[in-house]
Amino acid sequence: MTVKSLSGAKIRQVYIDYFLDRGHTMVPSSSLVPGGDQTLLFTNAGMVQFKDIFLGTDSRPYTRATNSQKCMRVAGKHNDLDDVGQDDTHHTFFEMLGNWSFGDYYKKEAIQWAWELLTEVWGLQKERLYATCFKDEKREIPTDEEAAEEWRKQPGIDPTHIMFFGRKDNFWEMAETGPSGPCSEIHYDRGEKYCDLQDVPGHVCQVNGDCQRFLELWNLVFIQYNRTDATHLEPLPATHVDTGMGFERIVSILQDVDSNYKTDLFAPIMDTIQDLTGHSDSERAANLTPYRVIADHARAATFLIADGVVPGNMGRNYICRMIIRRAARFGGKIGLDDPFLARVAEVVINEYGEFYPELSRNRSAILSNITSEEQRFQRTLVGGLSRLEVLLTKLQDNGDMVLPGKQSFDLYATYGLPLEITRDIAREQNMEVDESGFNQSMQEHRTASGAGGDFGKLIDEGVEVYRHLLENLQAQGTLGIEGVAYNPYEWLEMEGHLLAMLKDGKPISEAEPGDKVEVLLPRTGFYVEAGGQVADNGIIRSVNDSSNARSEAWQIRVTDMRKPAAGMIVHIGEVEIGTPRVGDLAIAQVDTRYRRDIMRNHTATHLLHAELRAVLGEHARQAGSLVAPDRLRFDFTHPQALTSEQLERIEAGVNVRVLDNYQLNIRVKPLQLAMEEGATALFGEKYAENVRTITIGDDEPFSYELCGGTHVEETGDIGLFLITSEGSTAAGIRRIEAVTGRGAYEMVQRRSKTLKSTAALLETTPEDVPAKIAGMLDELTQQSKLLSRLRQQLGNLRMLRHMDRVPVVNDVPVLTAVLEDTDAETLRSMSDVFRQRNPSGVAVLGSVGSSGRPIVIAAVTEDLVKRGLHAGELVKFVAGQMGGGGGGRPTLAQAGGKDAGKLKEALASVPGWVENNLKNE
Ligand code: ATP
Ligand code: MG
Repeated sequence: MTVKSLSGAKIRQVYIDYFLDRGHTMVPSSSLVPGGDQTLLFTNAGMVQFKDIFLGTDSRPYTRATNSQKCMRVAGKHNDLDDVGQDDTHHTFFEMLGNWSFGDYYKKEAIQWAWELLTEVWGLQKERLYATCFKDEKREIPTDEEAAEEWRKQPGIDPTHIMFFGRKDNFWEMAETGPSGPCSEIHYDRGEKYCDLQDVPGHVCQVNGDCQRFLELWNLVFIQYNRTDATHLEPLPATHVDTGMGFERIVSILQDVDSNYKTDLFAPIMDTIQDLTGHSDSERAANLTPYRVIADHARAATFLIADGVVPGNMGRNYICRMIIRRAARFGGKIGLDDPFLARVAEVVINEYGEFYPELSRNRSAILSNITSEEQRFQRTLVGGLSRLEVLLTKLQDNGDMVLPGKQSFDLYATYGLPLEITRDIAREQNMEVDESGFNQSMQEHRTASGAGGDFGKLIDEGVEVYRHLLENLQAQGTLGIEGVAYNPYEWLEMEGHLLAMLKDGKPISEAEPGDKVEVLLPRTGFYVEAGGQVADNGIIRSVNDSSNARSEAWQIRVTDMRKPAAGMIVHIGEVEIGTPRVGDLAIAQVDTRYRRDIMRNHTATHLLHAELRAVLGEHARQAGSLVAPDRLRFDFTHPQALTSEQLERIEAGVNVRVLDNYQLNIRVKPLQLAMEEGATALFGEKYAENVRTITIGDDEPFSYELCGGTHVEETGDIGLFLITSEGSTAAGIRRIEAVTGRGAYEMVQRRSKTLKSTAALLETTPEDVPAKIAGMLDELTQQSKLLSRLRQQLGNLRMLRHMDRVPVVNDVPVLTAVLEDTDAETLRSMSDVFRQRNPSGVAVLGSVGSSGRPIVIAAVTEDLVKRGLHAGELVKFVAGQMGGGGGGRPTLAQAGGKDAGKLKEALASVPGWVENNLKNE
C-alpha cells in the first residue's frame, strides 16, 4: 500500500467514494450552528443533521448517506477543551466521517464495510484492530451478539480482539427518551511506545484504558430501540446505522505519524506558528502545548466565523471569543504579543477552502474578526493578568486553592478574561476556579441586566401535552403522519374543523368570550415565525352550514402562531364572540393587509442584503433579521459605522430595484444544487433536503437566497424603501432599520406634516425653512455674544461696587463677594481688577455656575504670600465647606463645590482664616 503518501484531502475523498460506490448519497456538512435546534450549542457529531429522521419527523429521498461533518466539542455534554493542548487526538473543532443507513442496511453491511475499508482499502494491520460490542452490566438490555457475530466473520480478525463493554462506552442514546441502541467501536493499537503510563506501577495497556496506546477510531451505532422512559426500551419498526470516524485520527494513522498535529491537516498550520515565532525545532518541541492550542483554536475560530459565529458575550459567540482569546494568550507565552492569529487563520483557509468553500467566501470577515478580537483582548489583558496574579497570591497566602466564582466573573466582566483562561492560569499554579460560582454570578448579572435565560433551557416543558394530542389525532386518522398541514404561500383562507383547543396549556372542549386559547386546525396558512419573519394575524370564525350542529356564530382573533412540537402548529388568540367548541366547522382567514405589509418588508430585506454586499463588499453578511409589518431590521457583519454617503447609496440602490419592478422567482430545489449555484444560506436556519429559493433579477440575478418566508410578486409592490436608522448591536455587527410601503408612506407623511407646521411657525414656505433657520441661528450667535459682553460689564459694575468698601482684617483688605450669573473666566478677570486696585489684599469671589454648582476663585497679592497666605489653601478651605475641593498657585486658585446653599457661609469664613494664617512681617 502506498497509503503513507495519501494527503488528508485524498483520504477524505477515498472514504466518501467508498460509500458512494455502495449506494450512498453524499450529503454536505451542515453548519456548526445546528439549524432549528436551540438546545444544542454546536453540531457535535455527524448525526445532528439527521436527528429528525431518527425521530420520525423528517424524511429524505435517500436511505443511505455519507458525509464529512464539521464538529465542535467545546461546550455542554461533549466538551474536550481540557484535552486540547494536552493530547494528540482531541480537538475542539474536528471532522467526523460518517456513513448512514435510514431503515436500510444494518449491522452486517456496516461492519463488513468498515473492516474492508480499513484493512483492504487502507491496509491497516489486522492484528492492530480491536472491535468492541455491547454487554449490559445491569443485564437489562440484551447483549449485542448480532454485532459480535458479524465481527467474528471478518477475514483475518483476531477473535480475542472482539471485546464487550457496558453502557458508558457501548450504548448510545440520543436523549433521556427517544432513539437509542448498542454500538461497536473500532480501536487501533498504536504500539507500546505510545503508552504514557509505563512508569505507573500496575498499569496495563488496554482498549478503553487510560493510556494513549489504544486509539478510538470509529464508532458504529446501531439504532434499534426507542426509549420511552428510564426503564423501558421498545424495538423500533425500522433500524438505522449511524457511524462516526475521527478524520484527523485516521489520517494520523495512514500517514504514519504519532500525532494529529503532524498530519498534513495540521503541519502547515504548526509550521506557520513556528515561522511567526522564529523558533528552532527544539524550541518548538519544548513549547508543544502552546503550539497545539493555537493551531487547534485558530482552526476552530476560522470555521466558526465562516458559519456566522463572531466573537461576542453570550452562548456561541462567547465560545468564539474565548477560543480566540485563549489562543492569543498561549501566543503571548511564546512571544507572539501582537495580533498574529489572522496569519494562522489564513493558512487554515488556504488548506481547507477547497472542501469547505465557506472559508474562502468569508475570508475577509474571518481575518478581520479575529484581529479585532485580539486587539480588544490586548487592551485589557495586562490589567486582567496582573489583577488575577494579585488574587491568586492572596489566596495562596491564606492556604486557599480555589478562586471564588464571583472573582473570576469580575475578571471577565472587567478585563474580558474568559473563565477558561482564568482556569488555565490557576491550574498552572495548581489552583482551581469555582466554576459553578462563576456561572451563578454570570446568571445574576444577566438577570440584573435583563438579558434573559441561557442556552439549553429552551425545551418547552408542556411539550408532552401536544405530543399526546398529536398521537391521538393521528390514531383517529384526523391528522396524517406529517401532523398539521402548512402552506402559508397559498392558503390565506382555509376551512376545517376545530380539532382541539387549549387554555393555560390544557385541552378544553369549549371556550368563552375573553378566553385566551390555542386552536388546532387540520391545516393552516398562517405563517409561523421563522427566518426573522413574524407570525401572521387574522381570525378564525364559525361557518354557518348545515353540517354545523349548532348555528351559533363565534370568532377568535389570532395574534400569534406557535409550533409546540414536531407536527403541531397552533393558532394563539382570544375569543371575541360566541362559544367555539371542538368539532365546529370553522374558517381561518389570514389578515391579508397585515401580511402584505410583512411581505413587502421581507422582499425589501433581500434587496437590502444584496445592496449591502454591492456597496460594502462580500463580507457584509446577514447576522440576524426581523421582518415585521411596520418595519424591517437587518443585522450584518461589518467592522465600522456606515457613512451617510454609503447609506444614501444603499437606500437609492434598493429603490432602483423596486422601481425596475423585477419578478420574484421562487423555486423549490435540492439544497445541494442551490448551494452549488451560490445561494445565500442564512445562519442558524435549518434547511431540509429540498429548499425554497428566492431569486431576484431576470437574466443576471442579483439576489439568490434560501428562504421560507413570504414575498411580494414583483419588487414594485414594495412601493418605497426608506432607511430609518443605522447603528451597532455588537462588536463587528451593524444594524439597519427601514420601512417600506405603508410604513414608508406614513413616515413621509409625518415628516411632511412636521415640515409644514415648522414652516408655518417660521412664517415661511417649506422650501425656505433651511435658509430661515440658518438666518435665525446666525442671529442667535450674535445675541449670545452680546449677552456675554453685557454680563461682563454688569460684573464689572458689581465688582466696582464691592470694591468701594473692602473690609480690612488686621491691616489687610479682604474682599469676599458672590457675583451672580458669572462663569470662572469672569471671576478670574474680576480678581485681576481687584489686584490692580489693591496692591496688597485678598479676594475670594464665588458664583453659582450654570450647572448649579458653586465655583470659587481666590486671589492673594505677592506680598501677602510672603506673609503665609496661600490662595490654593484658601480655596481648599472654602470649597471644603461646600463638599468640594480645588487648588492652584499661591496667588491664584480655583475650586468647585457641590452645595451651592453653603456658598455665602463659606465666604463668610474667609476673614477668620486670614486672621489665623497671617504672619506679621
Ligand atoms: P473519545 O473517547 O476518544 O473522546 P468519543 O467516544 O467521544 O471519543 P464519539 O462520540 O464516538 O467519540 O465520536 C466518534 C469519533 O469521533 C471517535 O471515534 C473519534 O475518532 C472522533 N472524535 C471524538 N471526539 C473527538 C475530538 N475531540 N477530536 C477529534 N476527534 C474526535
Ligand atoms: Mg469524547
